[in-house]
Amino acid sequence: MTEPNAGSDAGGCVTVAEKDGDEYVLNGLKCFNTNGPLADYTAVYALTEPEKKAKGLSCFVVKKGTPGFSVGKIEDKMGIRSA
Ligand SMILES: Cc1cc2nc3c(=O)[nH]c(=O)nc-3n(C[C@H](O)[C@H](O)[C@H](O)COP(=O)(O)OP(=O)(O)OC[C@H]3O[C@@H](n4cnc5c(N)ncnc54)[C@H](O)[C@@H]3O)c2cc1C
Repeated sequence: MTEPNAGSDAGGCVTVAEKDGDEYVLNGLKCFNTNGPLADYTAVYALTEPEKKAKGLSCFVVKKGTPGFSVGKIEDKMGIRSA
C-alpha cells in the first residue's frame, strides 16, 4: 500500500489502475514492500475509482516479471532483518 507520499494516510495513494479490455494497467510507485524483492507475487493497492480516494482503492495480485514491473531501491532497515 505505502507510497512515498502515502503512509498512514492511504487516501494519499496516487497509483492508478485503469481497465484496458480484459486487463488492468497499473501506474505508480510503491515503497517499503517487505520482502517484495524476494516475492514471486506482490499485493498492490491502486485506485480504480480515484474520486473516492481511499475508498476507491482495489488490491491487485501482481506477478514478478509482469511487463513494466521493476524493483527499485532496497531499504537497509535496522530491525527487519529477521523478516
Ligand atoms: C520496516 C518497514 C516495513 C514496512 N513494510 C511495509 C509493507 O510491506 N507494505 C506496506 O504497504 N507498507 C510497509 N511499510 C510502511 C508502513 O506501513 C508506513 O511506514 C506506515 O504506514 C506509516 O507511514 P509513514 O512512514 O509514511 O509515516 P507518516 O504517515 O508520515 O507518519 C509519521 C508520523 O505521524 C503520525 N501520524 C500520521 N498520521 C497522523 C494523524 N492523522 N494523526 C496523528 N498522527 C499521525 C504517525 O503515527 C507517525 O508517528 C513498512 C515500513 C517499515 C518501516
